[in-house]
Amino acid sequence: MLGVAPDNWAERLNSAVAVACMTGLGALTLSLHHLQAQIELKTETMTDPLTGLMNRRALTAFYGERVFGPFMSVAMFDLDHFKKTNDVFGHPVGDQVLRRFAAVVRKYSRTGVDAFRLGGEEFVLVMSRMTEEKAYDIASKISVAFGTEVVATQLGPLRSTVSGGIGFGGTDGTSLDNVLAEADAALYAAKRAGRNRVVAQNKASKADAPALRSA
Ligand code: GH3
Ligand code: MG
Ligand code: MG
Repeated sequence: MLGVAPDNWAERLNSAVAVACMTGLGALTLSLHHLQAQIELKTETMTDPLTGLMNRRALTAFYGERVFGPFMSVAMFDLDHFKKTNDVFGHPVGDQVLRRFAAVVRKYSRTGVDAFRLGGEEFVLVMSRMTEEKAYDIASKISVAFGTEVVATQLGPLRSTVSGGIGFGGTDGTSLDNVLAEADAALYAAKRAGRNRVVAQNKASKADAPALRSA
């Protein structure tokens, strides 16, 4: 039995609990805001402001340490004669063309496809959980669809084209750098073959002469 019972001990306890809860909630709210701000900052540093696609930093962050096994591939795209586009139509029109390409990429992207702008007029698609044929099909559709796009300019309608190269992961597992190098070699072959096409470096044929498929 208490000798002297505090007259309002229950109220005090109540207040103490309420203050504790509010302080806890306040701290939680603050740290949630902090977390949200950090996420926004991170998202911003990983986004290309012109196209809204992810940037090179994001590519390294998400795939730099990944092992590229079967059913993973990388398509590298480079707009054709883009310097001429800038020279003839001006830099703002060039920017518009870049945004248009990004829009086409988004349209043909699906689950398992991540798109990045590496810089300039170079883009990369990382495709996961799909066959080489499917990856080729998506890259090819993007190339064909972009070729039909028309950008209105003061000098008249402007059509552009893009070349693409695909590198594939393998059963032994390979690095992003290796698949990118493979995609880059295929892209170079696409440029050499006349541009406006997608070339895939096929694993099965790598041991022999390089067999390339083209759109
Ligand atoms: P190829 O068909 O062989 O790829 O030739 P290309 O003219 O596309 O290639 P090149 O590398 O000579 O030119 C790329 C141009 O892209 C040069 C540069 O001024 C332009 N560029 C790079 N970044 C941007 C950008 O953010 N906006 C615009 N409008 N142009 C850019
Ligand atoms: Mg280039
Ligand atoms: Mg180019």
